[in-house]
This record gives sequence, C-alpha cells and structure tokens, in this order.
Amino acid sequence: MTARTQGAQAPASAPARVSPEKLPADASPSARAQWLRDELERNSYLYYVLDAPTIPDAEYDALFRELQALEAEHPELLTTDSPTQRVGGAPLAAFDSVRHRLPMLSLNNGFDDEDVVNFDRRCAQGLGRTASAAPADDLFSAADAAENSVEYACELKFDGLAMSLRYEDGRLVQAATRGDGETGEDVTANVRTIKAIPLKLRGKAPAVLEVRGEVFMYRADFDRLNARQAEAGEKTFVNPRNAAAGSLRQLDPRITAKRPLSFFAYGIGELQGADRPAMHSVMLDGFAELGLPVCTERRVVKGAQGLLSFYREIGERRDQLPYDIDGVVYKVNAIAEQEQLGFVSRAPRFALAHKFPAQEMTTTVEDIEVQVGRTGAITPVARLAPVFVGGVTVTNATLHNEDEIRRKDVHIGDTVIVRRAGDVIPEVVAVVLERRPADARAFVMPTACPVCGSHIEKLEDEAIARCTGGLICAAQRKQALLHFAQRRAMDIEGLGDKVVDQLVDQGIVRTPADLYKLGVAKLAALDRMADKSATNLIAAIETSRETTLNRFIFALGIRHVGEATAKDLARHFGKLDNLLVAGEAALLEVNDVGPVVAQSIANFLGESHNVEVIEQLRAAGVHWPE
Ligand code: NAD
Repeated sequence: MTARTQGAQAPASAPARVSPEKLPADASPSARAQWLRDELERNSYLYYVLDAPTIPDAEYDALFRELQALEAEHPELLTTDSPTQRVGGAPLAAFDSVRHRLPMLSLNNGFDDEDVVNFDRRCAQGLGRTASAAPADDLFSAADAAENSVEYACELKFDGLAMSLRYEDGRLVQAATRGDGETGEDVTANVRTIKAIPLKLRGKAPAVLEVRGEVFMYRADFDRLNARQAEAGEKTFVNPRNAAAGSLRQLDPRITAKRPLSFFAYGIGELQGADRPAMHSVMLDGFAELGLPVCTERRVVKGAQGLLSFYREIGERRDQLPYDIDGVVYKVNAIAEQEQLGFVSRAPRFALAHKFPAQEMTTTVEDIEVQVGRTGAITPVARLAPVFVGGVTVTNATLHNEDEIRRKDVHIGDTVIVRRAGDVIPEVVAVVLERRPADARAFVMPTACPVCGSHIEKLEDEAIARCTGGLICAAQRKQALLHFAQRRAMDIEGLGDKVVDQLVDQGIVRTPADLYKLGVAKLAALDRMADKSATNLIAAIETSRETTLNRFIFALGIRHVGEATAKDLARHFGKLDNLLVAGEAALLEVNDVGPVVAQSIANFLGESHNVEVIEQLRAAGVHWPE
C-alpha cells in the first residue's frame, strides 16, 4: 500500500479475486479470456487507481499478451471493454476530473527484434514506402537498404506516471493524470510542488500549450525517501514508479511537496497560437528552450537497424542511468507522417515501446537461512525457487535483517517479488500476500550461530544481529586475526591479508592463540613467503607476547570496544581476571561505558569459547604488567 492509500482517503476495496489459482490453460477459450480479463482488470485497478500493484509488470504483461493472442485467434471473444482495448484506469473520484482535449494514449509494446522489424515495416508500408515484403530470414534488408527508410525519434521509456501540463500564455494552469485516457484527475496543486516543472515558461510561449511527459523519481531520491519512511516507521515503496504515483495522487499537496519528484517532457497535446513543429525531435528541442526538462538521452535514427542499435546501446547503460526505465520508445519523427499513420484503439500506430528484460519477477520463498559475515553480522537470506530476472537465474535474495523481514512480512512459503538490477544483489521487494499458502511459516531468528554455535546477540541500538564467537567463529576468523595483529593492538608486523588468507584457508590457524604455535618452516612453506619474511614474522609474533592489558583487550575485537574503551577498561579493572568476572552492572561503572557497550562485553565474555581462547593466549605466554 502506498502512503496515499494510508491517508485520509479510503479507497474502494479492490474487486474480489476470481480464483486464487491460475485458471487451467486448457479451459475453454471463452472461459480463459474471461478469467484473463478479470485478472487484468483487477490488477489494473490495484496499479492505476490504488497505486498498489501486487504483481510485477512482467507478469501483468504476460497475461495481457495472452489475452491479445486469444482475441486475435478468436475475434468473437473481443469485447469493447476488454483491457486490450482501453487505456489505464478510471480516475479517482477524490480529485476533480479533467477531460483531455486530445486523448492520452498508451503505447504498443515490442519485446524482441522481430517486433521492432515488424513495426518498422508497418510504418514504411503505411507511409507508402517501397519497403514492403522483406523476407522473414532477411529481417533488415528492405526497409534499411532503401534510402527512403523511415526516420524515427528514439527516447527512453521512463517508468513513472504520465502527466499532461497545460500552459496558457506561458503559465501553468492545469496538470492532469492520464486516467482512462479520456478523463484524468486534476492534480494541479500537487504538480505545482514539483521543482523540475516550470510554473512559467521561458521565452515566447504559445497561447495554449499542453505538454505531456512523465513524472518519476530518481533512484537516489527514491532510496532516500524509503530510508526516511522506514525510519519513521512508515510503509516503504516497492519501486520508484510506485512512489512517484503514490506521491502525486496525494490529497494534501504538502505531502507531495516533501516527495522528491521529477519530470521529463516527451509529447504534446493541444497547441494554439503556434504551428506544430514538423519533427518530433525539433519539438523536444523547443520544449527544452521553453525551460521544460527534456531528457538528453535521445537520438534520431533511420530504419529498424537504427532502432535496434539505440536499444542495445541504452540496454548496456541501463543500470548506470540515475532513474528506472523499462524500455525505449520509438516514434516516427515527421509529425505529418505520424498523422498519416494515426491510431488504433488504445495506442498510436506511429510509436512503439521496446521493453527491456524485466528486473522484477515473482517466485516463492522455499526457506530463510542466515549467513555470517566477516564481522559476525548475521544476514537472513531467502532461498528461492529459481527465477530468471535481470538477465540471470536467481536462487537467493538478501533480506538484510530481522526488522526488514518483519517490515516486509516475509514468510517461508510466500510468493514474493524479487528485484535484480545490474550488479546489485537480488532483493525481495514485497510479498504477494493474497498468494500466501495456509502453511506459510514466519521466520525465527536462530539463537546460535550456524557456523560456530556461539550465541547470536542483537544489541539494543542495532538492526543487525551478530555472532558473539568473535575469536573462534570460522566466518570471522580472518577479520579477527587481522584485527588482533594490527599495529594498535598486538602489533604483529607482516601478518597481512595475504598471509592470513593462506593460514586460515589451509586450516593452519583457527584462533589468535594458534599464531603462537607457528614455526618458521610452516610459514616459509606459504605461497610467496620468503625465508627471511617468515623469520621476521615469527620474530614479530614473539615480540608481541609482551604487551599491555589495554592493547590485549582491544585486540580481542569485542564489538564497541575500541582503543579508548579498552584503555578505560584496563585502567578500571587493573587485572584481566577482574574484567573476566565483571557482570553488566560492574561494567556500567566504567568511565564512558553505557548499556550497549556493557551488554556487548558481557555477551562476548559470556561465550565460553572466547574465554578459552583468552586462556590459551595467556598459556602461550602473552603477558603484560598488571
Ligand atoms: P505503457 O507503460 O506500456 O506505455 C505507455 C506509457 O509510457 C505512457 O502513458 C507514458 O506514461 C509512458 N512513457 C514513458 N516514456 C515515454 C516516452 N518517451 N514517450 C511516450 N510515453 C512514454 O502502458 P500503460 O498503458 O501505462 O500500462 C502498461 C504498463 O503498466 C505495463 O508496463 C504494465 O505492466 C503496467 N501495469 C502493471 C500492472 C501490475 O499489476 N503490475 C497493472 C497494470 C499495468
């Protein structure tokens, strides 16, 4: 649910789900068509009216295409109110409605090269160009080879919310959502709060200009907004599109004003007092001159080859773009040609949205396990039924921490939306609650570390649970040794990353106490370790036996015990044995030690494995003046 639907305005309840299971594909075509229409209808309502979709777009698109194919095969099943014939969703009654003087349409979608080649061919044919029958196995020949191939303006397909801005004599007088394409919602007050949208156009503006474009959210803004929402204990948004739509359709413009919305112009509605530019690309340049934000990632190309190379180039850079796009859009560049091609029911014939592979898909959570990081951080990970998303097959997704699991309400057995964009670790973004099976189980954080069996602690001020077996846990071994050896701790020169990696990976060293059992021969046998370095390292280990109590305490790597706290502890307790038996109450008496630090120390020393290592270190001759 978005913030809007949490707000004052109570949305009508979503139409009831037809059936929790998919209707068998072998049902009669008319039953299947009816089921698909109901499903699409219900999801459109959730998406367009409530801004609260429960399935990823890819899943919606698959149902949509299936219905299109079914209707093409059985034309008698086509109804005028079919979702394939209509745009968007009904406007919310809570806003005044705005009748669009020129309808705001959708776009036809293409998913592969062939769709693009066919689009180009249809345009060429419709415009009476010669490029008629290119053979199927020679996709690019006809239209491209001809010098009269069609010219297109290529743009990005922003994943936001369509908006029509009406300027009269250069002043913004009205902003309306697309709604069902004919009638939208008057969101002028909200749009006025969007800084990217000029309230007054620059230069000489026509008497009436309707600018169409997309309201969206930069990904960095979205992340910040979600962090803020989480901190305030509010619901977070599933994706930037959803956040943008929910923010815009707020009844209170003060809420919209706090949301970081942006805008790109890409089209025109009504125009009075000026001639329509001859080219779409020229029109966009004109918008930019009027002070409207126009995306610079655009290009004019010819023929299907030109379209596809734009698609590939943008596809490669998709993850680096600062906003989400779900594809690119091709539009015949000459406005006269656009008019010649005209429209079908819900979309122009002169444009095509070429979609990228989905970055969000649904799958099921088969289990939730925990992983232990180098510093002992315990991260819950969802084991997933394999799903192809963002270009790879994903079987695991991070759930970050326990609070996050509670907030997203993820159960084992749930159907979830998984997102993978670029190189980012796949993430569970939301649960499809309506598909929760009766035997779904809540996650319970284990009390013992799966790697070493030590207690798992979660300190009061932290979101992350941690393993307390810092000195013995295999997952934390390398980190613990490096910390132990660092200059300000035991000061063992020469014990760096590479040596520690080998000592741990070959099972030679398991705890810091093992360091004191090493011999030159063992060290010299390591990769890239000269005899001289081995001798020096042994000498450094020898020397480290003589240390101070505060260095020793710091070297143990107790969470929240830095150098300064280690000094305070050493000064306060004088002897290590006094510290070892101190409970939380005694620890709280130490200068600068608060409840969290006291709890952390008590947990660490309460872990008998850790104390064993401390005893082994003393037995190995590590000492200090007490
Ligand atoms: P669309 O998003 O496929 O294409 C039309 C829209 O693209 C325009 O209205 C405009 O807002 C946008 N657009 C972005 N960049 C543009 C550009 N440069 N030029 C022109 N238009 C541009 O079509 P749609 O009718 O808005 O709806 C279909 C989309 O909504 C699909 O992606 C579908 O998956 C999604 N949807 C999802 C659910 C769900 O439950 N997940 C439900 C309904 C719809």
